[in-house]
Amino acid sequence: MFIDSVTNIIQEFAFFMISISNVVGALEPSATLAMSAKAKELKAAGKTVYDLSVGEPDFVTPSHICDAAVAAMKAGHTKYTLASGIPELKAAVVEKYKSDYGLDYAANQVVVANGAKHALHNAFFSTLNAGDEVIIPAPYWVSYAELVKLSGAVPVIVQTDEADGFKMTAKQFRDAVTPKTKMLLLCSPSNPTGVMYSRDELKAIADVVIERDLFVVADEIYDKLVYPGNTFTSFPTLDQKLPERTIVVNGVSKTYAMTGWRIGWTLAPAPISKKMGELQSQETSNPCSISQYAAVAALRGDQKCVDEMLTEFTNRKEFVSQRIPKIKGLSCPAIGGAFYAFFNIKQHLGRTLCGTKIDNSEQFCLELLSKKCVATVMGSSFGCEGFVRASFAADMKMLTTAFDLIEEFVG
Ligand code: PMP
Ligand code: GLU
Repeated sequence: MFIDSVTNIIQEFAFFMISISNVVGALEPSATLAMSAKAKELKAAGKTVYDLSVGEPDFVTPSHICDAAVAAMKAGHTKYTLASGIPELKAAVVEKYKSDYGLDYAANQVVVANGAKHALHNAFFSTLNAGDEVIIPAPYWVSYAELVKLSGAVPVIVQTDEADGFKMTAKQFRDAVTPKTKMLLLCSPSNPTGVMYSRDELKAIADVVIERDLFVVADEIYDKLVYPGNTFTSFPTLDQKLPERTIVVNGVSKTYAMTGWRIGWTLAPAPISKKMGELQSQETSNPCSISQYAAVAALRGDQKCVDEMLTEFTNRKEFVSQRIPKIKGLSCPAIGGAFYAFFNIKQHLGRTLCGTKIDNSEQFCLELLSKKCVATVMGSSFGCEGFVRASFAADMKMLTTAFDLIEEFVG
C-alpha cells in the first residue's frame, strides 16, 4: 500500500518534471490511423463495423512472399543488416526501376526504410533546413504536412479544385514558388483522391522544377495500382535533369499487401542516399531483416498476384464510381489509381443527419461512424474541407452495405 502510494507520488512528480517538446506537442496525430483505431475499438466492443477508413489492402500477403520470410528466418537472416538495407533488396529495387521505367539507378542510390512513411521522413530530414518551403498540392495525404513540419521546414499548400480534377497546374505551382521554396511533394496516383496526372501535366510541372532549380519528392507508392485507361509516369523519366533533383519514394506495402512488414525505400542521388543511410543508422538501425528478404521475393517473384489484386480493385473501383453519384448530393472525381474515393458532401453540410446538425467533414465522419458504423476519413485532415475519403480496400459485400448505410445516413 505504502509502496503503491509512494510510486504514485513519484509518477505524478515525474509528470510535472517531463514536459513535451514544442515540436512534438504541435504534432497532429495521423487521422487515417486515428479513424482506423476508432473502428477497431467499436469492433472490439462487439459492433459490426464497415471499415473504409484505412488505406490497407484487405488481401493476405501472397504465400510465396511469406515462404521467403520463413526461409530467411531458417537461414539465420535474423541479425542486424546494413543500416541502409541488404544488397539483394537494393539490387531488386534497381532492377524494378530499370525494367518498369527504364531508369538507371545504382545500388548506392537506394535506402531501404521502415515503410514508405519512414522513407519520406528520411527524405525530408536529410534535405530540408528550418524555414525551407515545401510545396504540397491539396488534397494531400495526411502525413505529408506533419512530417515536413517535424523537419523544421514549412509546408506551403496549393489548393486544387474538384473542377480541375484536383490537379495542380504548372501555373499554380509557379505562382507558389518563393525564394524560400526548396521542394515539391507530388503523389500520383493520389491518396486521397485517386486522381492521376497525365505525362504532359507532369512534364509541365517538371519544367518549372528545373527552371526554378527545385527538388522533388515523388511518392510513387501506388505505381502498380493504376486502372485501365490510365498510365503511370515515374517522375524522373520526364527529363534527364530530374534524377539528380528527385527523391523517389516507393515500397511493398500497397502493391503486395504487405503493410505490416514495414518495407519502403528511396531512390536518390548517391550523396543524399549516403546521408539518409547514416540518419537511419542512428535512428532505427536496419529495417526488419526478415521483411527485407520477403520484399526481395515480392519484387523478383511472379507478379501474377499483383494482377489478381488489381483486377479485384478494378471491380471495386467500378462499383464505387457508379454507386457514389447515385446517392443524393454526393459526387466524386474520376478515379485513375490507388484505392480511394474522395467524395463531395457539401450539399449535406448545414443539414441535420440522423438527429445531428452536420457542419463539417469531421462531424460527418464521426456521426456516420457512431450512427451507422461506417468508418471513413474526413477531408479536412487531407487539407480539403467538404469531402470525405472512403478506402475501397474492402470486399464487395462490405462496400455494398457501407454505401447503402451512407445513403441511409444522408437520406
Ligand atoms: N505514401 C502514401 C501516399 C500512402 O498512402 C502511404 C500509406 N501508408 C504511405 C506513403 C506510407 O506507406 P507505408 O505503409 O509503406 O509506410
Ligand atoms: N496510407 C494509408 C492511408 O492513407 C495507411 C494509413 C497511414 O499510414 O496513414 O490510409
